[in-house]
Amino acid sequence: MRTINIARLNSWLAFLAPSRCVFCGDIADSAQICAPCRTALPRIGSRCPHCALPTIHGEVCGACLTKKPPFAMTLAACRYTFPLDRLIQDFKYGKKLVLAKPLAHLLVDAYRERQADDFRPDILVAMPLSRSRQIERGFNQAQEIARNLAHTLRLPLINNALVRTADAPKQATLPWRERHKNVRNAFACSSSVAGLHVALIDDVMTSGATASAAAHELRRAGAVNVDIWVVARAVVNTVG
Ligand SMILES: [Zn+2]
Ligand SMILES: [Zn+2]
Repeated sequence: MRTINIARLNSWLAFLAPSRCVFCGDIADSAQICAPCRTALPRIGSRCPHCALPTIHGEVCGACLTKKPPFAMTLAACRYTFPLDRLIQDFKYGKKLVLAKPLAHLLVDAYRERQADDFRPDILVAMPLSRSRQIERGFNQAQEIARNLAHTLRLPLINNALVRTADAPKQATLPWRERHKNVRNAFACSSSVAGLHVALIDDVMTSGATASAAAHELRRAGAVNVDIWVVARAVVNTVG
């Protein structure tokens, strides 16, 4: 009996029904982003090695110099601006879960560009949502991205290692200075991360307050190193 070659079958299916670019609808690769749209995506350029905030020569930013964050570095694929912001909002609030794959692929590309021996984490952990927000949304966007990353990069994804302990107000609704206070003690972490290098996955990093609080809890639970991986980094004016 002839066996079916799955790879060949997939390539025939791709030929018959090619992927469409999630930005422009043109024919795209399996990551669903066409070459021109990929080139035009808003990149960050020189950035702070810890928090990925743009800096002129890639030096450590003022905020990280003043207070070293509990994570070693931030891998951010793009800036959180048009057209990526629209795509992420469609994914999150429009509940278009199929967008998890192209968004995760942007992070895979960023990871492969910077891959080094000390860069590969032992495990992936998704940024948790509060219980009420997860029920309201029906899914956790970070978990969906992390699932795709784990599959593509062949890294273990540890579910429920990190949980939200309180239904704090949405960060976006708070003044900048309140954000660190709001998420302090908002997380609890199991000992399953002890002794491991963790990459904490999220869709967007804005002030970094949530990432800091989560990374702090991961370190407290014994993680030897925490990196933050986000699809997009919001670059905002923090003055005032
Ligand atoms: Zn396109
Ligand atoms: Zn920084």
